[in-house]
Amino acid sequence: MERFADVIIDISHSKLDQTFQYRIPAQLCEQIEPGNVVEIPFGRGNRLTKGYVLRVVEHSAYPPEKLKEIVRVETNLAGAESKLTALALWMRDYYGSTTVQALRTVLPFRQKAPQKKKKTVVLKLTQEEAVQKLAWYREKHQTARARLLEALIGQPVLAQELVTGSLKITLPVLRAMQEQGVLSCEEEQSYRTPLMIEQLVEEEKAASAFELTQEQQQIIAAVRSEWEERRGKEYLIHGVTGSGKTAVYMELIAEALFRGQQAILLIPEISLTYQNVLRFYQRFGNRVSILHSRLSASERYDQFERAKAGEIDVMIGPRSALFTPFQRLGIIIIDEEHENSYKSETVPRYDARETARKRAQLEGAALVLGSATPDLETYYRTQNGQSRLFTMNRRAAGGRLPAVLVTDMREELRAGNRSILSRALYERIEDRLQKHQQIMLFLNRRGYAGFISCRSCGHVIRCPHCDVSLSLHNHGRLICHYCGYEEAAPATCPVCGSPYIGGFKAGTQQIETLIKKEFPQARLLRMDADTTRGKDGHAEILRAFGAQEADILIGTQMIVKGHDFPGVTLVGILAADTSLNISDYQASERTFQLLTQAAGRAGRGGQAGEVVIQTYTPQHYAITSAAQQDYLLFYEQEMRYRELSGYPPCGGMMAVHCAAEDQQKLETACGYLAGFLRQAASRCQAVVIGPADEAVARISDVYRKALYIKHPKAKVLTSIKNIAEQYIEINAGFQDIRIHFERR
Ligand code: ADP
Ligand code: ZN
Ligand code: ZN
Repeated sequence: MERFADVIIDISHSKLDQTFQYRIPAQLCEQIEPGNVVEIPFGRGNRLTKGYVLRVVEHSAYPPEKLKEIVRVETNLAGAESKLTALALWMRDYYGSTTVQALRTVLPFRQKAPQKKKKTVVLKLTQEEAVQKLAWYREKHQTARARLLEALIGQPVLAQELVTGSLKITLPVLRAMQEQGVLSCEEEQSYRTPLMIEQLVEEEKAASAFELTQEQQQIIAAVRSEWEERRGKEYLIHGVTGSGKTAVYMELIAEALFRGQQAILLIPEISLTYQNVLRFYQRFGNRVSILHSRLSASERYDQFERAKAGEIDVMIGPRSALFTPFQRLGIIIIDEEHENSYKSETVPRYDARETARKRAQLEGAALVLGSATPDLETYYRTQNGQSRLFTMNRRAAGGRLPAVLVTDMREELRAGNRSILSRALYERIEDRLQKHQQIMLFLNRRGYAGFISCRSCGHVIRCPHCDVSLSLHNHGRLICHYCGYEEAAPATCPVCGSPYIGGFKAGTQQIETLIKKEFPQARLLRMDADTTRGKDGHAEILRAFGAQEADILIGTQMIVKGHDFPGVTLVGILAADTSLNISDYQASERTFQLLTQAAGRAGRGGQAGEVVIQTYTPQHYAITSAAQQDYLLFYEQEMRYRELSGYPPCGGMMAVHCAAEDQQKLETACGYLAGFLRQAASRCQAVVIGPADEAVARISDVYRKALYIKHPKAKVLTSIKNIAEQYIEINAGFQDIRIHFERR
């Protein structure tokens, strides 16, 4: 019987899935299936073109003699592209997107025109900060700045040509915004500078020769021994900060190379520090390539082509490095696997860990995840046998974990201390300054604005239905971002009656001012979105602090991650609770992770370290278990909460994000969608929550709402998504609404 294939041809610009039908010649009939990469004649000249088979059908709506034939199929079973195409189709179905969107995410595609080196404008703020800044520009009627920032929120790297051209932004405006640290103007440049690297590698070599510890050796031996039998085998290395996970990764990568296979190592962009990059060049020389988000599309493409051609065997980079087209992939390693940056924010909104798991299964590679504070879902997999757990409890280079002291800020208030600093922290700062040791002060700004709490008793106003904190909105009402519940913000604390109830307001700048006043002799550095302007602002501050040019480093999340400062013996954590109150079921987990990682910064050198955690809720298990640096203690308590409330990993959850310019239309559409979903859900005992405003309910005049679907089984969520997608497609009412799905 004759068969036909629907083929997608151009993935370089179209957004919709436009397919062309081809006849499958008899001799290829056995071979062709969805995901295959094929060659077909296309266009007027019947030029041979690459295409992706989307579907195979037995009947054609066209007269068969009008259809052209497929010429060739990528028969090489090890063909990297066919495997990646299969992965893309899985992502399309699992996360929800068009085929083209999924293919574009996964496959390297050549830009239409060859690109020259060009200037770009790069957003330097986080999404959250950018949205706040945008509101501020609007308020001040700075329309040009607002226009540019709005464009950058949609697309954080823009060609300068486009900015000065179609966006009509003048150079003085660009300069002013660069000076404010909102953006930076950068020359696109190649990351590879082999000559310089080689020299540095030599210097670095001397500094880092050591024997592997017993813990390290055991892990390497175990993974090695299962190398042959593993088909998508998964491991988790739960190792405290400084336990030497990187050395383990290196050995495992070396093992893959030894077997003639290839390796991918994902690390968060922020950890792609100079030191780290060097260590890998030192070990693997020019067999390694490093991706980072500043590479232009064509440079990325070049690196992927080198991988396909077998010129490199090791790819290191942030989440998109996962799609390196290696032919014989042996291992995928994901460092700091708990990091949020492994979730994509563009459609398909994939999770690099899940997708890596899928790729490892498809290609028979091993998957190794590593973290000091594993994601709850990852750890859960080790408890039910889906993944094998290794634990590293000791610091490889010696040194003890720091001692942690928790101070109760309610008691400070009772004792008449209204300062941002507790007495204990104050005394310790004084002490370290005297001893000429270094101090880091970390201000937890996650979930900073929004929730309200009582300074006398620590009470936080929560949603009675969802057990997440309510967010304060401009019009003075408290709102739940899951279910839409609303109430008026109280003037006094409903628990203790205290009038000291409200949002937490101190910022890094205020803390800097305060510290300057209290400790005029101290040399300060501040690291936040305002001080890290320009390309090297970040690196420069870290360098200066590392060179002991300052006594105290004050900063936000940015200072917590991955930087080693042997001179630091005191870490102060201000406002440890704020992240407990993000309106999200992962609030406690995020807090535990942040506190543990921040605490891990103390005492990395010879001297013992000390950590002071300031909190209004010293009894909360996220705080107590972080103070004891006890992951398991946290895990067990948090799992109880997840079980009770049916949040992942004790149940699957999918968010449906809806956005539109027209608020009325959005509301109507969400209403219909909620009704449809509830009906579909009732047939399979799924639960639908919402619609409710998103945490940021409006961005650039686009209104945003979300619905949540909960069910223990991922498959059920997929099928609800699929029928919802059809419902959305055939109903005209959804035409102007942007809808996308997100796995939680
Ligand atoms: P992690 O990633 O687990 O936080 P790293 O891999 O960065 O830890 O290692 C922390 C420090 O310990 C590094 O300076 C590294 O050079 C050192 N180190 C790693 N393994 C050993 C070892 N076997 N002996 C001595 N020092 C080691
Ligand atoms: Zn109170
Ligand atoms: Zn609620």
